[in-house]
Amino acid sequence: MIALKDKSSGTILGSVTIDDQLVEFHEGETIYQIAERSRRNIPTLCYDDRLEAFGACRVCVVEVEGIRNPVASCTTLASDGMVIRTKTDTIEKYRKTLLEMVASENRDLDINELAGYASQELGTLLDLYQARNGRFKGKQSGHSNQDDKNPFILRDYDNCISCYRCVRVCAEQEGDHAINVMNRGFETQITTEFGNDLRDSQCTFCGQCVQTCPTGALTDKKAIRAKDLDGEVHKTRSVCPYCGVGCAVDILTKGERVVGIQPAMDGPANEGALCIKGQYAFDFVHHPDRLTKPLIRQPDGSFREAEWEEALQAAADGFKKVRQKHGRHSVYGIASGRAPHEAAYTMQKFMRAGFGTNYIDNCSRS
Ligand code: SF4
Ligand code: SF4
Repeated sequence: MIALKDKSSGTILGSVTIDDQLVEFHEGETIYQIAERSRRNIPTLCYDDRLEAFGACRVCVVEVEGIRNPVASCTTLASDGMVIRTKTDTIEKYRKTLLEMVASENRDLDINELAGYASQELGTLLDLYQARNGRFKGKQSGHSNQDDKNPFILRDYDNCISCYRCVRVCAEQEGDHAINVMNRGFETQITTEFGNDLRDSQCTFCGQCVQTCPTGALTDKKAIRAKDLDGEVHKTRSVCPYCGVGCAVDILTKGERVVGIQPAMDGPANEGALCIKGQYAFDFVHHPDRLTKPLIRQPDGSFREAEWEEALQAAADGFKKVRQKHGRHSVYGIASGRAPHEAAYTMQKFMRAGFGTNYIDNCSRS
């Protein structure tokens, strides 16, 4: 379950009794939100805290006194005096049966962690409820779309559980509406307009559908290439270097190799969102053409490698020569739009104090 933060705020409307504990609740809070806030662990599959609750998977059911059937806690608003039980034998049995049924429909239940941020959610719940027992057998749903030729997203709907998190994140978070649901029951299918490949749809390849998919039906094609590389997957929290927004990312590495990027769901600037560059454009890190040492241009136009001290000295000598010959306004500084405030400040100081010119600009200004 993707959880971001405690959203309890606003007017207190009353209190509920949840597993014998009296808890106040706020306007608009659901049973699920109150339970999370009071540290109860209710399992979910179709839930993503960033999205409107949907109530499709029913794994989050709870008992409410006075209501005959269990209710989906993610879509049921709390009301004053409610008495709720989140973990009775009956409820746990319902959850296990639901998971057994879900498992019976999918081809693969063991998904590599490189598939996506939430890709382990179904497998983890199946283990928790010991639901990989093959109790239900029969037709499997899904229409794999593995031949979609886009370079980033593997669409294997044989592993889809129709939670619609992908469709909802694309619409609600990204605003792209690139994918939607068609047909019903076993014929349910996630599709693009006219069933085209993603490249011929409104998709911006932000990767959000991949990262929220709880089953690996949507898989990060680039990251999964590293599944057979030796070593554990390590995540290192960092900040995307592509622009000044400061999206938080987890860089996935195996050994010395960067193998993928996942958005940080708790990143204050992006809350799990990334653009195509932040999500997929990391190949430059290991590209053989990447400069790893400073180069100094020779009189014949060729470059030779140098140490930093020598290269910086050569640059400073060059600047001085130009200033002496053509005056202080002969140098013009353009700061990168990718630079943070501190670097931009240093840049203008360098130009103003170092060269005595106000000829400065920023590449973001157009
Ligand atoms: S592809 Fe994944 S996220 Fe989309 S509906 Fe299927 S299981 Fe859910
Ligand atoms: S990559 Fe982004 S835009 Fe494309 S289908 Fe997924 S969520 Fe929608």
